[in-house]
Amino acid sequence: MTENNELPQSNDLPFLAGGGEMGELIRSMDWSKNSLGSPGSWPDNLKVMVSMMLKNNFPVLICWGPDFIQLYNDAFRPINGESKHPQAMGGSARDTYAEIWDTIGPMFTEVMAGQTHGFPNFMVPLDRNGYTENCYFDFSYSPIADLAGNIGGVLVICMETTEKVSAVELAEKAQKETIIQRDRLRHFFLQAPAGICILDGPDLTFELINPLYQQLFPGRALLGKPLLEAVPEVKDSAIWAILQDVYQTGKTFEGNELLIPLARTTDGPVENRYFNFIYQARTDAAGAVDGIMVFVIEVTDMVLVKQKVIESERELEQMLNLLPAHVVVIRGREQVVEMINDSNLAYWDKKKEETIGKPLLVVLPELADQPFPGQLNHVMETGEVISVKESIVTFVEPDGSKRITYVDYSYQPLTDANGQRNRVLVMSFEVTDKVESRKLLEQYASDLQVLNEESSAINEELAASNEELITTQAQLEDSFSELANSNARFKYLIQEAPVAIGVLTGRKLLIESANEMILRIWGKSKNILGFPLAVALPELQGQPFLGLLDDVYTSSEAFYGSETLAKLEQDGELQDVYLNFVYQPIADETGATKDILVVAIDVTEQVKARELVKESEQKLQLLADNMSQLAWMADETGYIFWYNQRWFDYTGTTLEEMEGTGRNKVLHPDEIARVVEKYEHDFKKGIVWEDTFQLRAKDGTYRWFLSRAIPFKDESGKVTRWFGTNTDITQERALAQQKDDFISIASHELKTPITSLKASLQLMDRMKDRPSAVMLPKLIDQSNRSMQKLAGLVEELLNSSRLTEGQLHLSKTTFKVSELLEGCCHHVRIAGKHNLVFGGDRDLEIYADEHRIDQVVVNFVNNAVKYAPDSIDICLNVEKDGNMAKISVKDTGPGIEPDKIPHLFSRYYRADYSGSQYSGLGLGLYISAEIVKRHGGQIGVDSELGNGSTFWFTVPID
Ligand code: ADP
Repeated sequence: MTENNELPQSNDLPFLAGGGEMGELIRSMDWSKNSLGSPGSWPDNLKVMVSMMLKNNFPVLICWGPDFIQLYNDAFRPINGESKHPQAMGGSARDTYAEIWDTIGPMFTEVMAGQTHGFPNFMVPLDRNGYTENCYFDFSYSPIADLAGNIGGVLVICMETTEKVSAVELAEKAQKETIIQRDRLRHFFLQAPAGICILDGPDLTFELINPLYQQLFPGRALLGKPLLEAVPEVKDSAIWAILQDVYQTGKTFEGNELLIPLARTTDGPVENRYFNFIYQARTDAAGAVDGIMVFVIEVTDMVLVKQKVIESERELEQMLNLLPAHVVVIRGREQVVEMINDSNLAYWDKKKEETIGKPLLVVLPELADQPFPGQLNHVMETGEVISVKESIVTFVEPDGSKRITYVDYSYQPLTDANGQRNRVLVMSFEVTDKVESRKLLEQYASDLQVLNEESSAINEELAASNEELITTQAQLEDSFSELANSNARFKYLIQEAPVAIGVLTGRKLLIESANEMILRIWGKSKNILGFPLAVALPELQGQPFLGLLDDVYTSSEAFYGSETLAKLEQDGELQDVYLNFVYQPIADETGATKDILVVAIDVTEQVKARELVKESEQKLQLLADNMSQLAWMADETGYIFWYNQRWFDYTGTTLEEMEGTGRNKVLHPDEIARVVEKYEHDFKKGIVWEDTFQLRAKDGTYRWFLSRAIPFKDESGKVTRWFGTNTDITQERALAQQKDDFISIASHELKTPITSLKASLQLMDRMKDRPSAVMLPKLIDQSNRSMQKLAGLVEELLNSSRLTEGQLHLSKTTFKVSELLEGCCHHVRIAGKHNLVFGGDRDLEIYADEHRIDQVVVNFVNNAVKYAPDSIDICLNVEKDGNMAKISVKDTGPGIEPDKIPHLFSRYYRADYSGSQYSGLGLGLYISAEIVKRHGGQIGVDSELGNGSTFWFTVPID
């Protein structure tokens, strides 16, 4: 050792020169105790090898002799780490690599026998830093032989490749990631509620298609084929030119709501389906167009809903125009005209566009000082119904002149879906003709002209509002990024897809990516990326979505939502958003959920549009229920499926009884056959149906109705349903009848005295040169009587017309009733055929218009004389009844049939209107009743057939 120490070995043993740290170590070691012996005694070939080793930059290890004594250089040193060095130097490989000796021992033995071994990326778990790690090496083991070929040891030359290997592992991991991304892409393509395809290159080869896109061309092979080869018919369509344009200009094309008749499945029936298209140019790294991306979204539901809205608006409009009245709906305090029918437009003399959406006083400023605006507000405030007859409405014409009209109108409050009473349904019937003709009639009467007037007006026609539902299609952004690999392409697809897409990672649902559309729905910016969904959208607490997502995460099963309501904060406010969406779990290599892909389409407009349809249908029913008519609806075959409440109220029936042809059950039996035949005929022809017939009320009586039904038609003119109304015209019919009777009676009544007057005058004319002393007084008397009769009739007519004009003025005095009764009716007393017998309270005084009261009594007595000619005694009576005086006139005549009694006091009513037996105008009792009413009293008759009649009235005593 001393010897060794003394020896300047590098000089003595030049083969140990150099070699850095390991050279130093070898030189400093005491080799005498080693089985290898002192370096000077090492065989030559070992010396040569050691010399080469120390000068080599590659890791080199020499294992010499049967003990595989190790010598290694600086480059090899790190392989032995902290725990094996330095004892490995000069030690046996068997000890140093005890943990892997099983593997390498046999190889060393083989090398000693002349073989070589080489291993690329050979993994050796080495404990070189205090823990075991997998290390990788490219190894070569080769024998070290002398000139004679004897093998003395093993030369190990190696390269550690651990880093390279982990780089490869990283690469593999990245590859797996790419596969996951590709899976996402695939899921996206599969799940996207849009058809997607990518057309590559100038001949537009189908590079990528998803199933929805494939459905556009059921059963056709598309993938990998140029467009014109796969779908040759495109060449003749506008689409080809558009695609060429997109490819050449790079400009995006959007097609909206295009109708394409297509089957949903390969063998399904062809249906009318609507699509929105987006063709967007794809560019290469240099920015040149190298393909086209196609998105197709089916919007059939949306389009159909839109069509329904239009349809139901049209039906509402048609219905309004069917009503035999002027109809206008006024909304809110500003009194905006919301709906109006044609008949109302004609009445106002306005065009629809001059009225809809405008305040009433802007449309008709002249109404400002008329009562209507105030009444409208009153109805909206109180909910009261206002109904006014023969009201004057004055319009100012464009030339400044006034147009005076009369209407019967009603204001009916309408309540909207939210229970707000903010609209008024105004229905009016113009009765100007009626009022004016009545005035004329009265005027004619005073001129002794024949009365031949007619009146009445029921108009019906068209109008109403038609609101376009405007929907907007979300715009795709113009920007286009490079599509170098599938990952970027995926990101691009997500970003630019016209559907909302987001990826949530892990159970915490970290927002990994979110495209523009989903950010728009969420009402957020890109800042939320990386945050858990629950943090980014705190409003989701309490809504089902977080729970659903967690279920999807744990179950790995997709969840589909359809028209689901989400409350999301957009522009600082919670909004109701309806979504069709899918939560698609994406699995990692082990099959566990890694991410959740969220794909959603905002269908709020669609849902709202459908609600609009519902609302508009409700509006229609509400209107129909509020109509004064009985209303009903039938399908295209005439099968009646709906009646309004008034129908049930009137007939006392139920829908079950009435459905279909149940209506016939309440038709008058004599009319069923005729009505049904005409109904079936007109419905088959699709023309407006109109008929007049009697319908049974729930009390068993029949009333007359004018019934009309108009067909609602679709765009193609096909009848889709019928809307019918029945207007009660019983009163009108009775009135018309009475008026006809009145006219014939009045003419007859007036003709008789005029004829006799004419005859007398003619006779007097003839004898004017030689007047006969006998005849002349008779003729004069005859003329006077005719004149008196005429004057009486005219008086009666004038009285009645004054009454209707409200011109009956009372001049009251206090007088004794008994005196009036005893002094009246001289003509009857003089004629001597009847006894007027007075009875009752002699002293009773009343404060009333004596002349008018006398008129009533005279009328009663005259009627008794006329209709009870055989009644010798006519009893006049007065009694005190509380603070009223009751005056009556009793005869013992034939009496009056009970069903006629209620009508006796109506204008023009005559119980026996044959006109021949008794003369009269049917006005006497009407006038009497009006006089009594003005006094605040009551009038009536007690009568029994065969037992005479007692006509009575009461008046207040003071
Ligand atoms: P007019 O006498 O001009 O016909 P009124 O109004 O006075 O008209 O009477 C209406 C109807 O009432 C008459 O047409 C008649 O049929 C019936 N009537 C009135 N008074 C009597 C009576 N005392 N007895 C029977 N019928 C009567």
